[in-house]
Parts: sequence; C-alpha cells; structure tokens
Amino acid sequence: MPANLQQEMRRGEAPMPETADVVIIGGGIIGASVAWSLARRQAGRIVVLEKEKHTGRGSTAYSAGGVREQFSSEINILMSHYSLDVYARFSREMDQDIDYKQAGYMFLASTKATAQALIQSVALQNRLGVDSCIITAAQAREHVRDLFVDDIQAAAYNARDGYVDPASICQGYVQRARDMGVEFRTSTTVTGINVQGDRVTGVITSDGQVGTDTVVNACGPYLREIGEMAGVDVPARPYRRMLFITEEFSLSPNLVPLTIDMTTGFYFRDEGRGLMIGLANAAEPSSFNTTLDWDYLPTILEHALHRIPTVEDAEIGKGWAGLYDITPDHHALLGAFPERPNFYLAGGFSGHGVMHAPAAACVITEIILDGVASTLDVTSLAPTRVREGRLLHEQNVI
Ligand SMILES: Cc1cc2nc3c(=O)[nH]c(=O)nc-3n(C[C@H](O)[C@H](O)[C@H](O)COP(=O)(O)OP(=O)(O)OC[C@H]3O[C@@H](n4cnc5c(N)ncnc54)[C@H](O)[C@@H]3O)c2cc1C
Repeated sequence: MPANLQQEMRRGEAPMPETADVVIIGGGIIGASVAWSLARRQAGRIVVLEKEKHTGRGSTAYSAGGVREQFSSEINILMSHYSLDVYARFSREMDQDIDYKQAGYMFLASTKATAQALIQSVALQNRLGVDSCIITAAQAREHVRDLFVDDIQAAAYNARDGYVDPASICQGYVQRARDMGVEFRTSTTVTGINVQGDRVTGVITSDGQVGTDTVVNACGPYLREIGEMAGVDVPARPYRRMLFITEEFSLSPNLVPLTIDMTTGFYFRDEGRGLMIGLANAAEPSSFNTTLDWDYLPTILEHALHRIPTVEDAEIGKGWAGLYDITPDHHALLGAFPERPNFYLAGGFSGHGVMHAPAAACVITEIILDGVASTLDVTSLAPTRVREGRLLHEQNVI
C-alpha cells in the first residue's frame, strides 16, 4: 500500500508512541498470539505493526487451517500437542469460536519405506502422549469411501487432528490482546530498524519511529526482509502454495480427514460442500508470487484421480495461492541470534504456523521475559542451528 494512502487511513488515530517495551512486526496469527501471550505476562507497552489495513491478511488468510500432531520430529509433535490443547479450549477461554473440526488427519504410505517411516513416527507420537495409530488400507477406506487403496501398504490416523478457522483464531488473539492494552497499528509498514552496537533500539515505519529494547519479527514470508533491516541473515524463504476447491462433492457422510498421500504429497479434505485439494510444486523456486496458476491444476488432478477416481465428476470452483515461509529443515525459527540479542524471530513455520502458533507464542514469551523457554525445550529451534549445520529432520511435510 502506498505510504500516502496509509497516512490517509490513519487520520484520527493516536500518534505512534515514542517508545514501547515490545514492538512486534507483523499482525498475522503469530504476531497476534505473541502479543496476547506477552500482554498476559504484563510485559508493558506492546505495539504491533502491520502493513495491511487489517490484521490477519498475510499467509494466515490463505491457510488450509489444518492442525495435526502427526509429525516425525519430537519438537514438532510437542509444539502441536501443546497447541491443540489450547485450540480445544480456545472458544471457551478466548470467547471466540474457531470452528475446530476434529476430522482427523490420515497419512497414506504406498511404499515399504514410507510405511516403515509412518510406523516409526506413530511410535514416537505415542511415546509423547499422542493417540495416533497405524491402520490398514481397508480401515482407511472406512474414513474415505471412494479412496483407491490397492497400493496402500499402511496408513496413520489421529482423530484429534483436524482443521480450524485461522482468521477467527487470529482475531481472537487480537481482541483479547487489545482488551489488555496492546496497540495494533495497521496500515503501518516497517521500513527500517535502528541498531546500536549489537542491539536494536527502534523501528522505523511509514508512520514514524518507535524506540524499543525488544523487537519480535513475526513477518511470516517477509521474515528475511525484516531480518536484513536488523542486520541478520534469516534462513527462511517464501514459497508459493496453491489450493483448489471443488464444487459440491462428497466422499463420505461424515467429515473427511485431511488425507495425505505420502508418496506424492497430494492432499485433500472437506471444504464446505466440496473438497479442498492441494499439492506443492517442488520445482517452483522461492518467490513472493501469489497468483493462482490454473495451468498447475491438471498436475494436481492427475494425483487426485489416482487416489479418488470419483473426482472425475467434480467441477473445480475456485482456488487461491499464498506463501509458506520455509526453512532448510522445515522447522520454525524461535529465538534471537547472539549478535542481535534483543531481536527475536518467530517465523519460518514452513506451513505449520497455524497449528504451532499457541506453542510458539508461549515459548517466545518465556524466552523474552525469562531468558529461556520452560514450557517446552525449544533450544533445537534456535535460529543459529542452520548456519551451524545442526539441521532437524521432518518427513511429514506437505
Ligand atoms: C496455501 C497455504 C496453506 C496452508 N495451510 C496450513 C495448514 O493447513 N496448517 C498450518 O498450520 N499452516 C498452514 N499454512 C501456513 C500458515 O498459513 C502460516 O504458517 C501462518 O499463517 C504464518 O503466520 P504469520 O503470522 O507468521 O505470517 P502472516 O500471516 O503472513 O503474517 C505476517 C504479517 O506481517 C506483515 N508484514 C510483512 N511485512 C511487513 C512490514 N514491512 N511492516 C509491517 N508488517 C509487515 C504482513 O502483512 C502479515 O500480515 C498454509 C499456508 C498457505 C499459503
């Protein structure tokens, strides 16, 4: 949005404060949840800066809303386990319905190697308190009536997984954070960050400057750009992801689990009266392109037709494209670089930002206020791990 238009829209608003205890850059689900979490710990004056006219208009608005505990890495499982507990209580505690549908997630393995990997992941999930289980191809078909299972060696299922409405979660956090005095300054673009020595001292915006001793970079796909302003090299890149929605089409009288074909990465779930289908284009380079590419649809349909032959009868009604913020090991970046100790990253969620937001907000708050996270040990997610070559591994990525 042009700077003069932003200024026009802010007429009548209170001026940018001279200082704040914490400045959060980005008003998506991560910035909003971090703001709420810090306010609950009475972290002082908290200002959230968001370039769009409204909060929640970045990647959060384009998410499939899937939430799952079925990961292969311990820290991802624990982040989800914590977050799904929060989402189960969210409407009651935050006074905001989030449409949490526990439709389950189902991973399908059609090779021996993927079946073995699924078995190992489920064993780890069970050890960490997740009720996932290995099911047969026939049982998979009980969840999805028209599923082609002749090539399925094993499947994994977890009933507590499902999907939520990310926009409602984001707004729930924004509202409750506002109730506690957090200032959300929309139509405000961050254009620079002041640094003295190794510390950030303030944030420059289209609406003036705000001095601070604590900055949280929660800019989703723009994590790296904001990092550059603070003089750090953030190892995350934006990648386009597309989803298509069929017209009315039913695979089951019940909710269809979010089902993932592990071999191809093709996935689908219920969406309204139709089906949501998606598949990452692994060959596409990093970019900020969010144009929906209808030419890619035939590739997705090819995989869809293999797995659900009756999709042949379905019309594709619409679709959308958004950005993942991806790190080299598909794990989040939580914490600060030692050379910029008061500039915290909360990003790089690699397609898991909705399902990990509550846990991320909790641990970033603890890192900022207590120096170390105590609810979950997230030292493995330190941003330094990438340049130090301590990459994690996650196989359940879509
Ligand atoms: C197609 C698709 C499907 C997905 N499906 C899932 C899913 O099923 N489950 C799941 O958990 N996740 C999913 N994700 C990922 C999820 O949407 C993201 O991980 C999550 O929304 C990240 O939230 P965020 O707050 O970090 O980023 P964003 O929502 O992008 O928020 C960042 C904010 O920063 C603002 N900003 C950027 N630059 C500036 C600046 N210079 N100044 C001020 N503000 C700025 C942006 O406007 C934006 O509002 C999906 C993503 C896509 C695209």
